[in-house]
Amino acid sequence: MAPEQDPGGGARRVFRFAPSPNGYLHLGHAYSALLNFRWARACGGRMLLRIEDIDRERSRREFEQALLEDLHWLGVHWDAPPRRQSEHLADYSAALDTLARRGLAYPCFCSRADIARACAGKKDWPRDPDGSLLYPGTCRGLSEAARAARMASGAPFSLRLAMTDTLATIEAPLTYREFHEGDSGAVVTATPEVWGDVLIGRRDVPASYHIACVLDDHVQAVTDVVRGVDLEAATGLHRLLQALLDLRTPDYRHHRLVLDGAGKKLSKSSAAPSLRALRRQGLGAADVLADLSRRMNVPL
Ligand code: GLU
Repeated sequence: MAPEQDPGGGARRVFRFAPSPNGYLHLGHAYSALLNFRWARACGGRMLLRIEDIDRERSRREFEQALLEDLHWLGVHWDAPPRRQSEHLADYSAALDTLARRGLAYPCFCSRADIARACAGKKDWPRDPDGSLLYPGTCRGLSEAARAARMASGAPFSLRLAMTDTLATIEAPLTYREFHEGDSGAVVTATPEVWGDVLIGRRDVPASYHIACVLDDHVQAVTDVVRGVDLEAATGLHRLLQALLDLRTPDYRHHRLVLDGAGKKLSKSSAAPSLRALRRQGLGAADVLADLSRRMNVPL
């Protein structure tokens, strides 16, 4: 799965680790950061750090400071100043405007409760890969006048991609290269339709993870996206957004997740010990690397 030396044309490969500063890093983050860093170094590429802090409610500067320290402690370093997404909201907003102007995105005034109510009683209503109910389309058919009136009244709204209309504008199948851990890669066909009319701009911020991620990967000239398999389903949608916004498509390397004793994914909200807690217990970075190598059965 490790990338070959040269992506062609003599260009250097570019990797990025993109944590969200909404909690302390744990072993799962350490694994992802280390794979990015090791592979970048192994192929003479660049390593970048991106702070994904568009979620104003959950992101905190103290977590950002902590993750910078934890990564240094782990021996992960980057080759340019970190890019902080909260400083680029105008760019995400402009991309959303482009999609809206082309009729591919529409304002949605529904709350989660509205959506749950609209789907209630409809047996086996489909869900997206994250487990959320697929949007039932309530606001898709609103007239321009109705939309304008609701916006003028100050009603909060988010922006959704009109999936069926959008896919109709795409001529050839969308593909990308996927390298799972341990395999030599394959061309995969994207299936963005599994997300339905997905949210691409949120009520509180003029962006979403999806739009910010594809724009930043492009701006940062990322050639290799190394992240956990829990984000693999999102990649089909990212591929579609890249096609719509004329952005480059990197190679994707979705890696295994670090699991806890019960076989569950480690998360910031679960009881997974943070890297700083391990450090406080007296562990050194070498101990963490050895533990991860053993758990994941790879040299680190
Ligand atoms: N910010 C995301 C996370 O912390 C990672 C996004 C990505 O690598 O594309 O899970």
